Formats: sequence, C-alpha cells, structure tokens
Amino acid sequence: MTHESLENLDPTSRATATDDLRDRVSAAFPALRADLEALVRIPSVSAPAFDQAHVAASAAAVADLLGAAGMPDVRLLTATRADGVVSRPAVVARRPAPAGAPTVLLYAHHDVQPPGRDEDWRSAPFEPTERDGRLYGRGAADDKAGVVAHLGALRVLGEDLPVGVTVFVEGEEEIGSPTFVDFLTQHRDLLQADVIVVADSTNWKVGVPALTTSLRGLVDCEVEVAVLEHAVHSGMYGGPVLDAPTLLARLIATLHDDDGAVAVAGLTSADEPAVDLPEEAFRTDASVLDGVRLAGSGTLTGRMWTKPALSVIGIDATSVAQASNTIAPRARAKLSLRIPPGQDPVEAAAALRAHLEGHAPFGARVTVVDGELGKAFRSPVDSAAMRTARQAFADAWGTEPVDIGVGGSIPFIADLLEVFPDAAILVTGVEDPDSRAHGADESVHLGELEKVVLAEALLLSRLGAAGPAD
Ligand SMILES: [Zn+2]
Repeated sequence: MTHESLENLDPTSRATATDDLRDRVSAAFPALRADLEALVRIPSVSAPAFDQAHVAASAAAVADLLGAAGMPDVRLLTATRADGVVSRPAVVARRPAPAGAPTVLLYAHHDVQPPGRDEDWRSAPFEPTERDGRLYGRGAADDKAGVVAHLGALRVLGEDLPVGVTVFVEGEEEIGSPTFVDFLTQHRDLLQADVIVVADSTNWKVGVPALTTSLRGLVDCEVEVAVLEHAVHSGMYGGPVLDAPTLLARLIATLHDDDGAVAVAGLTSADEPAVDLPEEAFRTDASVLDGVRLAGSGTLTGRMWTKPALSVIGIDATSVAQASNTIAPRARAKLSLRIPPGQDPVEAAAALRAHLEGHAPFGARVTVVDGELGKAFRSPVDSAAMRTARQAFADAWGTEPVDIGVGGSIPFIADLLEVFPDAAILVTGVEDPDSRAHGADESVHLGELEKVVLAEALLLSRLGAAGPAD
C-alpha cells in the first residue's frame, strides 16, 4: 500500500491494512504502557526550583526507548540562547526518508508541570496507578503519553515505515519553551520536515478524536494606578480622594460589558466553531458554583476558542493582614488577555493599553507595562496531510474526528510555523476533557491512548503513500 496514493486505495484493502495494524498495536500495547509508567516515575519537572537531574534522566530514558525502537540516529541536544541560557536537554531521533518519500517530524515533550500538593492526589503523582481504565500520574497524559504515541507508531511500523521520521522530544515546554526558536534554528538541518505532527493537545471526548485547528494567543500586561505621593490617614483625608485599590477596581470593571463580554475596542473575534458543549458539561468541568451566571454570548466553544477573554491574574495591594487606616497611594494588577486567531498580539496589546490609559478613573495615573506576547494559531482548513490525518483518525476510532480549538496557547506552534513555514502542521493529542493536565489527578485514558497509537501508525503509513509534494 505504501506506493499507491491513499485516494486510489480501495476501502477493502484500507480496512485490511487497518485491521492488521490494529492487531499489531494491541500486541505492542502492554509494553508501551510499561514504558509510559517508567517515564512517569521520573519526576522531570522543568520549573527551575526543581532538581534538573530528573529532566536529564527523562531525556536519557526517552533516547534509550527511541534507539531500541530502531531509530538509527538518536541525539541528546541542547541549544544556547544569545544571552547564554542553555536549554534543557531535548531528544532528536532520526530515520532518513526513503528516496522520494516525505519526512515527518513527531513532536512531544518529556518535561512535566510541578505536581502540586501530594494530598490533592488520590495516588502519589509519580507512582503511576490505574483506576477505571485510566492511568494516573503527573505527565501520564501531558505529555509522556505523547512520547509513547510516537514510540508506539514507530514500533508497530518497524521496517514498514514508508516515510522519513524525526522524533523531537523537548524538555522545557512546561516553562514556555524559552529557547525554542534558538533550538529550531541551531538544529534546523536535523529538524527540517514536510509534515509536523504535534502530540500535545486533546481529543474532543473519550470516543471522539479531534484535530486542533485553532489556538488562542496570549497578551499580558501589568497596570498600576497611582493617586497619592504617599499614604495618608483615611480618617483625616478620606472622602475627597479615593484609594488606589478602589480606583483600580473601577478601571478593571470597565474591561467587560454588563454581559461579561470583553469591552476593549480593537479586539476581534474569529468565526463561531462548528461544535459546542452543553452548558451543564461546562459547568461541571469548570466547577462553576450553583447560581453563578455565565459571561458572554454565543457558543461556549466560541467564548473559549474564537473570542477574546480577559482575566485579572494577580493584584498587588495592601494585604488584609497588613491593613491600616490609610488611603493606599497605589495598586497594581496583572492582566492576561487571550486573543483569537486572526488578531495580531502587538495590536491587541496596544488596544488593551489604550483602553486602560483612556479609562483612568478620576484622573488617576495609569501606567501600563507590556508583558509577554504569544501568537494565535489557525491551521489551513484543508490540506493533503489533514485529509490523510482525518481518515486515519476515522479508521482508528470508527467515528469521524472533529476540528476543535483550544482556548490556551501552545506558543511553540507559532515558532514552528515561523521557522518551517512550508511544513503542514497537524496538532493532535492524547488528552480528553477529564485528563486534568497540570492539575492533581492527571490521567490518560488507556483505551484512547491505544487508538492514538493506531491513528499515528496509520497516518505515517499513509503519508508515505502521498509522496513529498502532495
Ligand atoms: Zn504539554
């Protein structure tokens, strides 16, 4: 099948090839699961306060697994930024493309988020534990299951792999991939690919696969409101002058309209998504308290994926414990703005700044310090690689995949597009809405993970059929 194009493959031979791979995946799965458990036992938290020896150990473990899976060229690599910062170790494992075949880059990351408090977990975060068909542990889903998905596809295809493959397993995604562009640039020749498969997102729900076709970008800033040179007695001077926290609260209140929609002029929205969530499911997932009304309008998915969202993520003011009868002279907040595909982060930051400066309550001094800028992502509606992926997903799950957005950002996706503008990017994942990535009781659904492995094996076998120029 590897030298015919997918469109020419009749449904019967496609089904036979799928069944054959499905059997191979199910035979390979117990060993893959054991490898996932071994990876979860390595507490590879990339946050600087944690022991980075574990991150090095997980990189080495991933390199060993890829070498044992038959990748002939496996390297542990770092990159150095202009300011001297050296990246955490990444693994790059390569197998060159057969003549005329495309090369596929398979991305995942081996670092994890801090575990949080042990008492919030039902079982210890770094001791993988199965309950009800799910494997619990920090990194069990995000993103060591992504590593295992790539590993599994390579194992079951073995010598039948019809494409060139480069596996790229990063070690600092959870701290925002700070040296990513440097890494891509310094190792460009190793990473060059026709198709990029990112396994770090989510499926729609258990039983329904998804391609992630849009991601919101992120703009943040700090805003300070100042009203006095110094604190004064609130009894002596209170009345003619409002304290800075009150004025900051009034300023923050202008950021949304009465329905709770973002009210900053110049921010845009993208089209409503094709799928929506029932309100009850959203309320349960987000733990919304009874009686609390939801903000904004339109589909819930649109509010999370294709419209802006603005949150106050920190406030500096006198703490309650330190409170005294004074009028506070200044107060500060950090704002986090999610922007939909189609909006430029520089423009969005300027719009937010203009709004804050233009709504200074009572003429208070408003100072805005710009923070991070992350681009939104929207994949092309259709491409040969996406059609092949959708068919592979449909065959693996027995149901059509849906296109989803994700409200959060994956900043490195924009970097990948920038360094490799001609590559087709497929954003896939192993998570489902119950995976609780970054939270306590993170887990992967083992039945879904097996389907992810099958889907990726089908995808790789069929991308070989399509040829590099398709
Ligand atoms: Zn991740």
